[in-house]
Parts: sequence; C-alpha cells; structure tokens
Amino acid sequence: MPQSIAIVGAGVSGLTCGILLAERGERVSIFAEETGQHTTSAAAAAIWYPYDAEPAGKVIPWALETYQVFAGLAPDARSGVSMIELRTFSRTGQIQIPEWALPLGARPLAMSSEVETSLMGTSAVFKSGFTLNVPLTDTTLYLDYLATRFQAAGGSIASKMRLEELEAVDPSFGLVINCAGIGARALVPDLDLEPHRGQVVLVPKIDQLSGAIVCDDAPLIYAIPRTNDCLFGGTNEVSEDRRIDAAATERILAECSRVLNIERPAVLAERVGLRPFRRSGIRLEAGKLRDGRTVIHNYGHGGAGFTLSWGCANQVLDIAGNQAGRDRF
Ligand SMILES: Cc1cc2nc3c(=O)[nH]c(=O)nc-3n(C[C@H](O)[C@H](O)[C@H](O)COP(=O)(O)OP(=O)(O)OC[C@H]3O[C@@H](n4cnc5c(N)ncnc54)[C@H](O)[C@@H]3O)c2cc1C
Repeated sequence: MPQSIAIVGAGVSGLTCGILLAERGERVSIFAEETGQHTTSAAAAAIWYPYDAEPAGKVIPWALETYQVFAGLAPDARSGVSMIELRTFSRTGQIQIPEWALPLGARPLAMSSEVETSLMGTSAVFKSGFTLNVPLTDTTLYLDYLATRFQAAGGSIASKMRLEELEAVDPSFGLVINCAGIGARALVPDLDLEPHRGQVVLVPKIDQLSGAIVCDDAPLIYAIPRTNDCLFGGTNEVSEDRRIDAAATERILAECSRVLNIERPAVLAERVGLRPFRRSGIRLEAGKLRDGRTVIHNYGHGGAGFTLSWGCANQVLDIAGNQAGRDRF
C-alpha cells in the first residue's frame, strides 16, 4: 500500500505539486491556514517573468519549463491562463534583453512608433524597451482551476489548519511536502526567508490597453489587463506588514495613470502579499523531520512563484519518486 502524502500550503506551489502527485495516483491531502483568495498567491500579478528569485542558474530552467506548461493550458479558457504581449521598459537608458528571452522571440521596441501606440500617447516617460509574448495567469480563475483539478484527481484540501511545526502533520502521512511560502520562516524555521512586501490595485478594464507593461526602474510600475479587470502595481520592500497602505495605492494609481495617459480610474480592490524571497536561493530539496519522516521543501520563490510553479513541482515529483524508490517515503 502506498503511504499518503501531506502538502503544507495551498498557494500556487502546493496546489501545483498536489496536481502532479494526485494525477499520478498518489493519495494527497493539502493542509493550509489560508486558501484561495486569502493566500499570497492571490495577490500576485501572476505574469510569467523570472523576477526577484535566486539562483538564476536554476530559476531560468524552471521558468522555461513552466512557460511550456502554461502555453499548453492557454487554449483552455477555464484555466485562466492566456498568452499576452509584455512590454518591459527602462526610464534610464538602453534596456538589455535578457539572454533567455531571445529564443522566446523577444525583440527591441521601436520607441517612437510602437510605443506611442502601446502607451496611448506617453512614450516620453521611457527611454527604451523590449517586447515578448508571455503567459498570464488570472489568479481569480487560476487558483480555483488548480484546486478543482487537484480535487478531481482525488486530492483533499483542509483549510484553516495552522501548523506550528512540520512534525505536527498527522503521523499517518509518510511524506510531507512543505510549500508554506513565507510561512516557512516560522514553520521550518528558516530565517533566510525575507518578506518582500508587494501591493497591487485592481481597477476596471481599460479598453485601449491590450498588452501588459512593466518598468522596474524606480518607481516600479506595471499595468496588466486581465479577464474582468486591470491590475496596477506595484511595490517591493522588505516588510511583513500585510495591511493596505493607502499612500501606496495613491502612488500606484498616480504613476500608472501618468504612464498610460488616462484619468485616475476607480479602485475595485487593493491586495497585499509577501513575496517569499530566500537570500540563499529557492529551497527545493529533501530532508528529514525529527520523527524520521521525509520532507521535501519547496519554498522561497520570491516574486516568481507562478513563473516557476510547474518546473519546481516537476522536480518535487522527481525527488518524491527517487525517495519512494529508496524507502517508500
Ligand atoms: C504583489 C505581488 C505580485 C506578484 N507578481 C508575480 C508575478 O507577476 N509572477 C509570479 O510568478 N509571481 C508573482 N508574485 C510572487 C508569487 O505571488 C509568490 O512567489 C507565490 O505566490 C508563492 O506561492 P506559494 O504557494 O509558495 O506561497 P503562498 O501563496 O504564500 O502559499 C503558502 C501557503 O502555505 C500556508 N501556510 C503558511 N504557513 C503555514 C502554517 N504554519 N500552517 C499551515 N499553513 C501554512 C498558507 O496559508 C498558504 O496556503 C507576486 C507576489 C506579490 C505579493
């Protein structure tokens, strides 16, 4: 009889790992304090882009693997995944197109003609940019899609379950997978995790904005059109304060409106999340709990948890498979 697997965490990392294991026939249960729209994952802009995560040598292959899975999901409207043109800009000088983006079709933008069109008339703000087609996951749909797919494969989700330590997972589970995001700081504990606080503002759809725009020279801004709204960002600071900062909302609205050359839109909602940045890099490895059970850690994805989700979950599956071969968890 195979032993059961417990996953701690119901954000994008836990749900994606859950799907891969449950669809392979394993008995999997997710335990999480927060689920769905209450997780950090729900606050994400959730556009595919390797940002604020280390180390690059691992991040880029995981990101490229995830890109392919998202591209495969995009034709299914129920998934909430679509392909979108992303225009990345610099305010300060000539932008460097990253090496990994070239095989995906990235190319420089002709600033005068193309940017005038994409920014509705205010190209003066930016000096240069490049364009690239990337997956966008609409978190209002995608997290539900993942949860539904996981449950359809036989997985179960127990919410409002706060664990004080990983050993508190019921002993009937032979393997524990730790996808606790910033929660791993206290749960493991792991003080190498640093909360990179991010705030976004949801506004009504902007008809003229067909693609996403990003500029991460200060002040960081992005405007991302989604199925039912438009997401404006953003902030990135070391803080664990999950309260909404009204001044940050004002700054985000002012800068996005200036760049897009629009009137200040109405605010539909504001969201705050803590990007789980790990200074020494994403932790994706097996270890042992004090009671001898195997744990596979999968946390510390910083500002790229969606971008890396399928690549990392595949690696969790590989580790679990090897482990199972060795000692059946
Ligand atoms: C403003 C903002 C914008 C972002 N934009 C993007 C983007 O464009 N693209 C991208 O790829 N990424 C983006 N990110 C990053 C992304 O959101 C994260 O990397 C990702 O959500 C991490 O997912 P996770 O599943 O590891 O953690 P989380 O979503 O935080 O989930 C952790 C889970 O573990 C549970 N948990 C934690 N501790 C405990 C405990 N002690 N007991 C029980 N359960 C526990 C939580 O309740 C939750 O269910 C953004 C983040 C923010 C904040």
